[in-house]
This record gives sequence, C-alpha cells and structure tokens, in this order.
Amino acid sequence: MIPESVRIVEVGPRDGLQNEPTALGVPDRVALIRDLAQCGLRHIEAGSFVRADRVPQMAETDRVLARLDHNAGIGYPVLVPNMRGLENALDAGAREIAVFAAASETFSLRNINCSIEQSLERFSAVAEKASSRGIRTRGYISCVLGCPYEGAVPPGSVLEVAKRLSDMGCYEISLGDTIGTGTPNATLALIETVASAIPLDNLAVHFHDTYGQALSNILIALQIGVSVIDSSVAGLGGCPYARGASGNVATEDVVYMLDGMGIRHGIDLDLLITAGRTVCALLDRPVMSRVSLARQSKSSGN
Ligand code: MG
Repeated sequence: MIPESVRIVEVGPRDGLQNEPTALGVPDRVALIRDLAQCGLRHIEAGSFVRADRVPQMAETDRVLARLDHNAGIGYPVLVPNMRGLENALDAGAREIAVFAAASETFSLRNINCSIEQSLERFSAVAEKASSRGIRTRGYISCVLGCPYEGAVPPGSVLEVAKRLSDMGCYEISLGDTIGTGTPNATLALIETVASAIPLDNLAVHFHDTYGQALSNILIALQIGVSVIDSSVAGLGGCPYARGASGNVATEDVVYMLDGMGIRHGIDLDLLITAGRTVCALLDRPVMSRVSLARQSKSSGN
C-alpha cells in the first residue's frame, strides 16, 4: 500500500515566504526557486496573485514568473484568490494555479472574508476559465483537522469541500492541517473519509509541525497510499491568521524519512539543506528542519 515513489510539492516560495515577517525581493525569490529546482524538485509553488498591499511578501509574482524557465519540466503553480488574480496569472504566463478553500466556516470568513459556499462559487468560475485556457487547477482545503475558532472539524465537512473542488475540475486536492493539531488517528479517519469519494491518486497532504505531529501524520497518509506531500524548505511559513500556526513541515525532514523508508522522491538532500540555509540567512530566521540542524551539529562536532 505504501507508494514506491512520492511527489513532493515544495510550497516554501509561496506558503512559506508569504507567512514570513521579512519580505524578499524578486531576485532572492527567483534564486530560491532555482535552488529548489536544482535540488530535483519538480513542483514548486512560485507565488501568489493576491493584493500586494495585503500580502507584500508576494508582490511582483508576475516578475518572478517571468524569470523562470517554463519549459524545463517543472510546474510552478501560483495561488489565485479570484478572477482578477487569474487574469493577472494568465498575463504573467502561469501554467498552473491553486485555489484555497476552508473546511471551517469561521476560518473561511476570517481568512478570505466569505463563506465556504461563496468561496467555492468564486473558485468554480476561476477553475472553469483556467481550464478553458489550458491551465490546471490545484485545490487546497485548510483546517482539515482543526480550526483556531471552531476547534475540531468533522471529516464529513472536509469531504463536502473536497467533492466540490473535485467537481469543479481540480486535478489534485491538498488537505491542509493549518494549525497543526492533527494526530495520527484523526489523520487516518480524515483520509479514509475523503478517499471514499476522491481517488487517493488525487489527494495530497499538507501538514504543519506546530504540535510536532507532521511526520507521524505523513507516515499514516503514506500507509493509506497517499503519494503527494506538500512541504516547505527549512520549514518556512505558517499562517498569520491562525494563532500559533507556525511551521509547515520541513522538506528536508520529509526527504530524510522517505530515504529511510526507501521511497523514491528525486531530491538531493544535501543541496536542499544548503538551499534552506541560504534562504534562512536572507530572512534572518532559524532553520526549522531537524535534519538540517542535526547535520550542522554533526559537521561542527558538537
Ligand atoms: Mg502551509
């Protein structure tokens, strides 16, 4: 049941950087994305077409896209909040977009200022137009294992949102534990529920390590047969709208676990560690990858 190979979707340059207090300029963001591509990553979230006054970290994503090679077999999805964002993404040459819905009504209202239903109607129009232009759409669901306002989120609520995203044409649905409170049994119940209607091949998992549960939950997902994992180099990012929700799981740590399990992924861990340290130096923040820290203390002899 455990997949022989896994596809990692690197979210550091978008989900990571957009939640860092320091905003990087276009050259540094492009350099990070190129470093990650050099590591072997083939799916790298490159930015977001949200309002720059609201999310300055993602300003000028069009200029980032313009400097990337879109014919190198690497997907550079960009987050699109609405039709205007899609127009801008299309103008910038995006070939893949992502939309972002919540499984919790209160989180949806506070995070994207509309109900779940309103957001799905908006995304349906966006996905339809994207499809007509040959653009693939990935769907994110946030708060799948807990909401900062509502607490526990029933798997059935996630299932309903997942079905809607699938029906509107999302080729993949990424289940996000935004506040990182999920534990293995809850993860098992969630994925089994969602997989009752959505093929496992169309599911991805997006865990945060806020409570130290990310790798355990990823292991459960792998054991069920999920083969797409979102992660963020050096553990960049979290969510500014969810208190204490720091910490996308670090790509380095996921890669190390996959190596140990003999699961193929195509990523060079040493280059990845270097890329993570480089971007953290620019951001003046610590590396949040345990593997990277372990390698550092090993090499320094401490
Ligand atoms: Mg995240």
